[in-house]
Amino acid sequence: MERRSERAVLLDGTRIAEEIKREVSEEVERLKAEHGIEPCLVAVRVGDDPASAVYVRNKVNTSAALGLRSEQHALAASTSTAELLALVAQLNQREDVDGILVQLPLPSQINAARVLEAIDPAKDVDGFHPLNVGRMMLGQPALLPCTPTGIIELLVRSGVEISGAHACVIGRSNIVGRPLAQLLLQRDATVTVCHSRTRDLPLLTRQADILIAATGRIALVRGEHIKPGATVIDVGINRLTDEAQARELFGPRADERIEAIRRRGYTLVGDVHPAEAELVAGRLTPVPGGVGPLTVAMLMRNTVTAARRRRLGDV
Ligand code: NAP
Repeated sequence: MERRSERAVLLDGTRIAEEIKREVSEEVERLKAEHGIEPCLVAVRVGDDPASAVYVRNKVNTSAALGLRSEQHALAASTSTAELLALVAQLNQREDVDGILVQLPLPSQINAARVLEAIDPAKDVDGFHPLNVGRMMLGQPALLPCTPTGIIELLVRSGVEISGAHACVIGRSNIVGRPLAQLLLQRDATVTVCHSRTRDLPLLTRQADILIAATGRIALVRGEHIKPGATVIDVGINRLTDEAQARELFGPRADERIEAIRRRGYTLVGDVHPAEAELVAGRLTPVPGGVGPLTVAMLMRNTVTAARRRRLGDV
């Protein structure tokens, strides 16, 4: 591992998310004042997965804080595909609803792909409908997925040059890795996508000016994976429960993490080894406080965009 003399600058996702949310709330004010439109987001949750409940509550609370109207539908874990499709059809019909999000993961008896395809693409604020995915691939106006667009905003607003850079994305999921690779390509990065079958991962990742980890594997990215001075974006949100591992990951700064594990049973960590990355990277997103807050901010922005396009015909 090649160390730099300075520690990596931490990219403050929380501050950038606040900036975007301020812009969204101004836009909501304008839509109300000039057109009498009150954008409305509806979140649908099925079952009682505690993480999903926290995510949905966060989205609903943020909507309220920005002046958006929001609604939450919490359905029983035993809900069938047909029942969920019936609710989606109702929400599609409602003129006052601008954004529909169905919180994933869904219980196994539900056909998630059918549900996501049933959402009106004009209200698909998660950007998961095949029509929006296809439009994104073609570079046409579309509702884009929130975590990838949040990462692009984070890079752009932090002054990281994307055009001409070599960006390496580890992970190829439909919600993060794949769309992010596409958006980076559209901004003229040279993009490498890595995954679990990639041979010699460090050889590839060490070539990247921008390295993005979206794997859900704690500390997969070590110092040896990072080119000195690179920008490292850590998308992972993982629960760490082991005190010894927290000590190893955070070194002298582990005390508050260990305190959190003792207090609530876990601390949130990413896919990047924080203590090692700090010694090699030029810029680094922390976990928490990096990519996470941007996802919700971009969902709010998508809801306002959906309202403008559907109700006013704006592109
Ligand atoms: P996912 O669907 O499980 O995909 C993980 C990807 O990582 C897969 O493409 C997998 O490769 C790859 N991978 C797994 N192990 C690997 C290894 N050892 N080497 C190289 N690649 C490997 O996960 P996801 O939904 O994209 O989420 C990834 C992480 O981001 C999770 O921690 C999740 O909680 C977090 N996340 C955060 C936000 C946010 O707002 N910050 C939003 C969404 C997700 P294969 O395709 O070959 O299996």
